Formats: sequence, structure tokens, C-alpha cells
Amino acid sequence: MSAEQMQFRAEVSRLLDIVVHSLYSDKEVFLRELISNASDACDKLRYEALTQPELLDQEADFKITVVVDKKARTITVADNGIGMTRDELVENLGTIARSGTSAFLEQIKDAQKADISQIGQFGVGFYSAFMVAQAVEVNTRKAGSAESWCWESDGRGEFTVEEGDKAERGTEIIVYLKQGEDQFLDTERLRGIIGKYSDHIAIPVILDGEEKPANRAGALWLRSKNDITAEQYKEFYHHVAHAYDDAALTLHWRAEGVIDYTGLLFVPSVKPFDLFDPKREHGVKLYVKRVFITDHAEGLVPPWLRFLRGVVDSEDLPLNVSREMLQNNLTLAKIKRGVTKRVLSELNKFASDNAEGYATMWGNFGAVLKEGLYEDAEHRGELAKLVRCASTAGNKLVSLSDYVARMVEGQESIFYICGESVEKLQRNPHLEGFKAKGVEVLLLTETVDDFWPSALEEFEGKAFKSVTRSGEDLGKIAGQANKEKEEPKPAPEGTNDLIALIKLTLGDAVKDVRASERLTSSPVCLTADEGDLDIHLERFLKQHNQIRTPSKRILEINPKHALITQMATRAKESGAADSLKDIAWLLFDQARLLDGDTLADPVAFSERLGAVLAKAV
Ligand code: ADP
Ligand code: MG
Repeated sequence: MSAEQMQFRAEVSRLLDIVVHSLYSDKEVFLRELISNASDACDKLRYEALTQPELLDQEADFKITVVVDKKARTITVADNGIGMTRDELVENLGTIARSGTSAFLEQIKDAQKADISQIGQFGVGFYSAFMVAQAVEVNTRKAGSAESWCWESDGRGEFTVEEGDKAERGTEIIVYLKQGEDQFLDTERLRGIIGKYSDHIAIPVILDGEEKPANRAGALWLRSKNDITAEQYKEFYHHVAHAYDDAALTLHWRAEGVIDYTGLLFVPSVKPFDLFDPKREHGVKLYVKRVFITDHAEGLVPPWLRFLRGVVDSEDLPLNVSREMLQNNLTLAKIKRGVTKRVLSELNKFASDNAEGYATMWGNFGAVLKEGLYEDAEHRGELAKLVRCASTAGNKLVSLSDYVARMVEGQESIFYICGESVEKLQRNPHLEGFKAKGVEVLLLTETVDDFWPSALEEFEGKAFKSVTRSGEDLGKIAGQANKEKEEPKPAPEGTNDLIALIKLTLGDAVKDVRASERLTSSPVCLTADEGDLDIHLERFLKQHNQIRTPSKRILEINPKHALITQMATRAKESGAADSLKDIAWLLFDQARLLDGDTLADPVAFSERLGAVLAKAV
């Protein structure tokens, strides 16, 4: 049978084009990527063999070999892992759509300076071989299969696949070095690279037929802390997390007692590109007695800790546990609880030890942690202590405890407002009265912020309350600022007539019209009635087609505002009603716009505006 010629997927072609022409100097990372894939392939087979021992045939000892052929100018990286079928070969190394490909392309726009070392993070590490290769050949035989397949490419748009003659299971990658890359034919150079990047790989890496592996080949997480250097932790993190940053936090502990397990977990210092991709897999790998089981154990960490990377190795789960069995496994549930508690307490400690580092972590993962506030009743209380928010009190993020400690006399609730950005919120009319009385308001700008305050209900006994909700709260608060000047002034005469007139005019468009306590400089604003949905939340739900009929709002007018006092005076006069009606509608539209909403009827709006302006000129 002759070789079949196939096209790389378009994004892969573009990616390869960049990799092939890259002047990036740290080319040695290609070896790390190939060894990392070989190790993954062994892990996968070891897991499959738990239920199908026949897959291992004679050869139960896993190993990775790296062989140099100086004459042929090749490096061959081989493993006796799971191997690939023909379809897997074609898809994995050429045609399948991976979210990481475009994300990587996005990152390396400047081909010449592109930092290829990041490549593994995007799940496309294999292609890094083309930094040093003029051609790559892959021979593979899937464990348990009678066929083997050969893939070949020079990385320029096309690859070929044909039947091969590989006798043993596993995969062999032959890298045909480019001119000028002879440094990689030097065994000592390769030993150095393996020691640097692959020391923690749990499978022995055998270099050039030597007896002793070139790596330590033990499970790093089982070594004692004192035995592990910072550099080794870092390389291990890079391997398990497919990441290349310095972890913000490294947690390594052994739990002994009712259940025994070891955890080696990392909090990354940068946001993974697919943090909010619903298809995204969890980053914590589950091992049982050093055997890799799965890297997407649903029940190992809660979804709101999905940014964690690393390994949990259990002594108590049965080795033959299937991924399906894990779904409702009680031991796993206990491990999850233990891991969650540990992570929460370490984050708490991090927050008090290093406020600045913590704030950066919160910037990266706060939005994810906050999901736990409404999803996870059990850990809600602990999580609330970790929350940091922007507030009207200054530029620093504040904790809820800080907030409660600063509450003013007569203040009973934790006030917050949700919106698009802190800058926009700062100018929101709802805040005027709070600012005037020196009452701090939390400024919340992330999607999850619409949900957690009502789920959390209270913190240190103080209820959460959106400032867009109507209520008597402000009246009860004496306020810190200009206490002396604060004496309740009676609303100007005619205010009640004006309110009646606006109510009559707007009719069903509003739920009620009231004199406002919260406004100091704006004439109007809209608020949500007690029991109605928060305005920002409702808009979010509407965008996601979660509600059809929006709640009616309360229009608050500011009796102290010059426009309103004038209107109030006119409201009493007979015959003034008509022009006031147009203004009433315009004020209502203005309030909607200030809330970031759109006009209900732009044509009617401009007609009224025209009429009012015509009278004013
Ligand atoms: P990643 O390792 O992040 O999945 P790579 O580009 O490194 O991305 O590899 C792509 C895929 O090719 C792997 O997910 C795997 O399915 C397959 N693959 C690569 N190398 C091997 C190997 N040595 N044995 C079996 N499969 C492999
Ligand atoms: Mg890889």
C-alpha cells in the first residue's frame, strides 16, 4: 500500500510555519515535549491495563528511550506506552481542532520573536519538534493492535500516513535534525536537557542504551519536602500543568488518618487561556498508589478550584477503580473534602502573609473562587473570608471583614452595586447618597457578582444589600460626613403633586414613583423594589434568555434637584401638565440610560426631546 498524502488543518499549518521559521533560541524544549508525551502515553496504558492486563503482553516495565544516530543525524524518542491507531495518529498529529492551536497563534503573533517554550501549555507540544527538525517520522502501534502506522512530514502543509512495520507496541518519534542543529547529537547535551526538564518524569528515560536512567524516575510527590529543590518543584509544575510560569503557590502535604493521600498542588501565577471554557478539563491528576488514573476526575476538586494544577495520590482507592466508579466514590468524596479544606486554609494564610501576591492571585482566579459562594454551601463561610472587592473607599481591594469593621453608625447592611466597570460604577447616581454619608459601597464588576451576594446572604451577621434596591436604609444612617449639616429638610411643596403627575403619566411603565433619599446631584434614578430582581442581574438574565417579562422599577426623584423643584412648583399650576408629561418621560429615559440600559422607544424619545428643546430655546 502506498502512502496517503494529507493536509494539516489550516491553523496547524500556520502554527508549523511559525515554528519552522522561528529564530527562538531555546530549542532544547522540543525534547521535553516529546518525553512528556511519551510519559503521558505510558500513564495511559498503565491505566488501561488495570482492567485489560493482556494489553501489556510480555512487556510490563515502562520506559522511554532516547537514541542518537550521528551518521543519520537523528534523535529517536521511543516509548512502550499506549500507541496510536491510524485515526488517532491522523487526528492527534494533524487534523483535529484544538482550542489551544488558535490560542497559541494568538499569543505568538510576532513569528520571529515567538516564545516557543510556551507551546506545551496549549496542548500542541509535539509540533515543537519542527524547531530543530527538517522532517519528523512517527512510527506507532496501538497496544493490543495488529497494525502499525508510519506518519511523516517536513512540517510544510502536508503529512503522509502509511502502514508500517513496527513490531512492539508504543510510539517512536524520529527527529531528522536540520543543518546547524548538531548540538543535539551530543549525548552529554541531551543528558543535561533531560536532567533539567525531565528529572521528575516517573518513567525511566534511558539515554543511548545506558543502564542507569538519565532521570530520577520516581514519583516526586512522594519524596520528602526537604529532598526537593525549588527548581525541581518548578520543573514538575511545568510538566503536570503544561505551564511555564512560576507557580504563585505550591502546596505539598501528606494526609494521614482516616484516609491517606499525598497532595502536590500548584496555584498558577497566570490565568490559563481556557479557564472559562465549559469543556475545559480539571488540572489535578489522580493517582492511586503511584499509578496514574485520570486527569479529569470530576469528584477530586470542586469546579470552583479548577485552576489548581498538580497531583493527588491516594493510598485508599482500589487500583482497579474505573473512571466511572469514581463518580460516586465515598473515599474520593472524603479526599475532595480534605483537599478543599487544605487549599482554603492555605489561601487564607497566603492572604495574610503576602497581601500583594494574594491580590494578584485574586485577580486571576477570584471570579472562579466566587462561583463556590453560590455553588457550595459547605465551604461558603470559608470562601467568604477570601473575597476581595473594589470599593468606594479607595483604590485597594477590600476584604469583607475590612468592610464590616468600617461600617458607620446605624449601618446594618453590606452595600454593593453591580455593573460593567469600576470607573462607570463610581459615577452611578445610586451611590450619591452613600458617598454623601460616607457609607462604603462594594463595586462588583464580574458576572458571578450578580449571584453570590444573595446566595451568601450575610457576612459576620450583616446582610448584603444592593444599593439599586429601594429601601429606608439610608435614612437610618446618621452618616460620618457633614453630620452637623444633616437635618432632614421637608420635601419642597408640590413634590407630592409632581409625584402624582409622573405616576399618572408613566402609568404601567414603572412600579411606583417616590422621593429619593439616595440622590444628591442627579435628578432621577431607577431602583428595584424589595423582592424584585436586582437591575444588573435581570439584564444579565435577559441577555441569556432566562426571563421574558422584566420587573417594573421604581422611579426615584430627587426633591432637592433644581429641575425637580421647578417641576414641583409648576405641577400645582393648572395647564402646565402637558409639557411636564414630556419631561417626565424624558427623565424616565434618562434614568434608564444612566443604568446602562437602552431606550425603550428611541423615536418617541427624540420627538419629546425635540418638543422640550423647542420650548426652551
Ligand atoms: P498534548 O500532549 O498537550 O496533548 P501534543 O501536541 O504534545 O499535545 O500531543 C498531541 C497528541 O498526540 C497527544 O495528546 C497524544 O494523543 C498524541 N501523542 C503524541 N505523542 C504521543 C506518544 N508518544 N504516544 C501516544 N500518543 C502521542
Ligand atoms: Mg504534549
